[in-house]
Amino acid sequence: MSPLDGAHLGRALLSHEPLTPFAPRRGRTGRIRVAVLGSTGSVGRQALDMMADHPDVFEVVGLAAGRNVPLLAYQARQVRPRVVCVTGGDGSPTDPADLRDELARAIGRDGFTLLAGNHELASVATMPEADVVLAATSGRGALSATLAALDAGKDVALANKESLVIAGPLVVESVRRHGGRLFPVDSEHSAIWQCLFGEDMDGVRRLVLTASGGPFREWDPDRIKQIGVADALRHPTWQMGPKITIDSATLMNKGLEAIEAHWLFGIPFDRIGIVVHPTSIVHSLVEFVDGSLKAQLGWPDMRLPIQLALTAGERLVRKRSEADPASRPFSLAELGSLPFQAPSYERFPCLGLALGAGRTGGTAPAILSAADEVAVDAFLNRDMRFGAIAEVISETLGSIASTPVTSLEQVLAVDAHAREVASRLVQTLG
Ligand code: MG
Repeated sequence: MSPLDGAHLGRALLSHEPLTPFAPRRGRTGRIRVAVLGSTGSVGRQALDMMADHPDVFEVVGLAAGRNVPLLAYQARQVRPRVVCVTGGDGSPTDPADLRDELARAIGRDGFTLLAGNHELASVATMPEADVVLAATSGRGALSATLAALDAGKDVALANKESLVIAGPLVVESVRRHGGRLFPVDSEHSAIWQCLFGEDMDGVRRLVLTASGGPFREWDPDRIKQIGVADALRHPTWQMGPKITIDSATLMNKGLEAIEAHWLFGIPFDRIGIVVHPTSIVHSLVEFVDGSLKAQLGWPDMRLPIQLALTAGERLVRKRSEADPASRPFSLAELGSLPFQAPSYERFPCLGLALGAGRTGGTAPAILSAADEVAVDAFLNRDMRFGAIAEVISETLGSIASTPVTSLEQVLAVDAHAREVASRLVQTLG
């Protein structure tokens, strides 16, 4: 009998309690004070936009960004936070102190605490004035800041995939010990979370993540291997940064999201399904033990998941606006149909690699994620063909053994080692 045949699956089959409560917040008193990590990125900008529409609900108390000082200064003048931090980003040659001086010239020092350097991201993440931290910094930078926020018992709206993929066990442990909560910003996980409102994990049979399938879902596997950068950057339904757009084209993104779902909801990998849904209208589904399915639908849009994560599930009225296409009325009749198909593991080997690393557990997902970053970078710099991305990841995973995750220092060391191995492979395969 497969575990899915059991009439009552129960919590016994969960790896841990879900990190997110399944009840939307009601009866809020006062404004929600938000610290935004990664304010100049795509999610950060949409978050500030959304919060500007609801000045009675949100107060921005902290802003942190990498090195886009002009935009950060503009945002700081708009929202007047207490703390503004410029980190300099990963591996930047510019001295963060110079960036801070540039920032000071742009906004003045009066009324702001100005911080500089990657290490200060954690100061913004733990600032006492913040009720919730939006972790939207890209890459590993968000990891220690997310853990610091959770260690301080904060609520975290998590837009950064790497934190859960690289350090899932550390995040689970921190939530368990310090009572912080994690709210998903990724649209698929937000959809699952919304389907779980009022439900109990006892009643859940399976989570089903939808994938757009990227631009090459119908292409011949041999042709996919030769794809160029411009083609790969053209995503059919979502506007996103280059790294995640390539991850969507390889379906690596969906594999990373399965790992994310595993940690967020405590559900084993054999109960996470993936279905290709090219129009990205159904954002994901939950299948229950009685055979019922719930789905969350809407236009492809990040503002709604960002809003729900920041309000702990409280729904706010969305203003209709020309500048916000996802605020237009939704019409099933206009859509006509909702197409679905099974994912092809032959066309998209990265999906199988990610699910395999998730099942292996320990540091395997950290190795996978590091190798993927190096490989995608090499492809974007035209050092390597599209088909070699999966080869770099597969060989990196094959040459480093997974060990149980024990500390942040350990996963960062594994990450650095995996990057070295993957960079060498890029040179051989490039
Ligand atoms: Mg997503």
